Parts: sequence; C-alpha cells; structure tokens
Amino acid sequence: MNPAIGAQGLVKHYGDVKALDGVDISVPVGTVLGLLGPNGAGKTTIVRILSTLLKPDSGSAQVAGIDVLADPRGVRRKIGLSGQYAAVDEYLTGYENLDMIGRLYHLGRKKSRERARELLAQFRLDDAADRTARTYSGGMRRRLDLAGALVADPPVLFLDEPTTGLDPRGRLDMWEIIQTLVSRGTTLLLTTQYLEEADLLADEIVVIDHGRIIAQGTSDELKSEVGGERLDITVADGARLAEARDLLEPLGIGQATLDASRRQLLIPVSGGAAVLTEALRRLDGVGLTVDDVGLRRPTLDDAFLILTGHDTGVAETVEKANATRKTRKEAAR
Ligand code: ATP
Repeated sequence: MNPAIGAQGLVKHYGDVKALDGVDISVPVGTVLGLLGPNGAGKTTIVRILSTLLKPDSGSAQVAGIDVLADPRGVRRKIGLSGQYAAVDEYLTGYENLDMIGRLYHLGRKKSRERARELLAQFRLDDAADRTARTYSGGMRRRLDLAGALVADPPVLFLDEPTTGLDPRGRLDMWEIIQTLVSRGTTLLLTTQYLEEADLLADEIVVIDHGRIIAQGTSDELKSEVGGERLDITVADGARLAEARDLLEPLGIGQATLDASRRQLLIPVSGGAAVLTEALRRLDGVGLTVDDVGLRRPTLDDAFLILTGHDTGVAETVEKANATRKTRKEAAR
C-alpha cells in the first residue's frame, strides 16, 4: 500500500537560510510520525510544504496518494491542519467557528450544525460552545482549532506543535484527544519539541536538525542506538567539567557527552556500581565536588543530546520566555 504521506528530497531556502536540506519521509496509513527537532530545525517548513501552503525549491511530495505540487486542491480535500497559532475567529463563538468551517467545506447547513455540536462535545467544549472564542483559555483555543481541522473528517492530519505553550493539564487533555483520533485510524504527522510527546504519541520518530534528518526509528530504536547504561554526573563547578570528563572517560566504553548549561557529563559504561564507585573515588581524589550522580538507562532526551550534540533547546526557550515575561512585568510596574 502507498504511504499516506511521502516526501522525497525536499529542499527549501529562505534567502540565505537553508531551511530544508534534502528531507525524505514516509508515513504508512493509520500511523503517527513524530517530527522532533529544536526551534528552527525545519519542522514547520515540512508541514507547510505537505499541506500545500509552500512550494519546495526541489523535491516531491504526496499526500493520500495525491501529488502536492500537481494537485494542491486535491490534497487540501484530504487533510486537516492545526498550527502553532490557533486559527480561531475570536469574535465568533466556539459553535459558530465550527459551523462556519462546515459551510466553507460545503457540508450543508444541517450537517455543519450537527458536526459542530458533535466536535464540541468530543473536545469537551460543549459548556463553552456559545461563548465567543476570545473568552477561551489557551488550551480551549487549541482544542477548538484542532476541532476545526477535523470538521471535514480528513484521513490525514498535520499537527504543528499541538501542545507548545499549554500548561500540563492542557497538554494531557490534548494528548488524550490525539490518542483517540489515532485509534480511529487517522494518519498523523505531528511536530514537536517535546521528547516525551514524541515518545508517547508517535509510532515512528524522525529527528531533524538544521533541515536534515539525523536519526529515525521507533522511540526504543533511538534509545538503543545511543547505547545502554550511562553514568550521569553533574559537577558543582561548571568550569571543571572538561577536567571531570578527562578523568572519567577512560572508565567508560565510549565517548562522553558534555552539557555545559547543565554542568552535566554522560558517559556510556558497562559494569554498573563498580564504575560508579571508581568514578566518585577519582573525583574525590582531585577535590571535584559533585552535585548529582547516577547510573541510568538512556531516555529519548539522551538520544537527542547524543545525536544532535546539543539538547532540544526547550529549557532555553522556557528560560527566555520567563525572562521576557519578567521584563514585561517590571515594565508594567
Ligand atoms: P519552530 O519550532 O521554531 O517552529 P521549526 O523547526 O518549525 O521551528 P521552521 O519554521 O521550519 O523551523 O524554520 C526553519 C528555518 O527557516 C529557520 O532557520 C527559520 O528561521 C527559517 N525560516 C522559516 N520561515 C522563514 C521565512 N518566512 N523567512 C526567512 N526564514 C525563514
């Protein structure tokens, strides 16, 4: 069977920026592909090309068996798209938003109304159905936006960072909704910066960085690709991180990874507790204080760090957002 989504050799430049540098993907019908990457990796660009909003400089793509470049209208009939910035009309109620989309899809008056009510119930928005969307919380808006993408019951769905900016409760709600959709057979391409989200929702994960695919597989495959047990050490003094590495790397079975922002050192090891004891002895011998130490199995986080040579950048983004918020608050005082 043809894949529900396919792309071959996608290249896209924005001026001097090479946003995509030869991307191939293939998503079998009824499965979920998680496109995982940090800010600016090229995830949105891929979604925009597959959903016919943007043309690639070169390469080809098909959705539901239809060529994206040759028949964009045909593709649009088969897809739903929910983006990072919810495309919700603030001045219409939740019900009116969905009813309007039904009309735009020519579902007819009766069917549009029915579908709107059905989706509002499914997305737990029935209590807020008759309030204007500008009174909705961020999570409610996202749910309404996703409901809008489902009005025409498309077989293929694109979700661009569906939970970015949501609080933990909103994120859990969204995950539950997505899992229900997938259990009904919708093919889904989901972009995310959150490893746990890809881990939970995706059948297959494509890790993308600087417009290139750097790894691909199930969550378990990616984790095992980066090896087994690792020694995880956080040093108290970040300036001595490289010294700690030089001291401890010979105890391991592979190259150490450093994360300077977290003062953290990860070393693939075998031999468990004995290695841990020896590591602490060596650090103590040179007076290097440790904040945290442990032996652990790799997480998808480790896989990402090792594959890309840097972390997902999410912590940094959150820090930046907090700093901006603080500055704004101070300015408001
Ligand atoms: P994010 O998580 O921040 O949305 P992303 O992985 O979706 O990131 P893209 O939005 O696809 O990344 O961007 C890929 C690269 O292309 C980035 O370097 C970005 O700055 C650049 N880019 C995207 N859109 C434009 C544009 N319209 N003009 C110029 N550069 C762009």
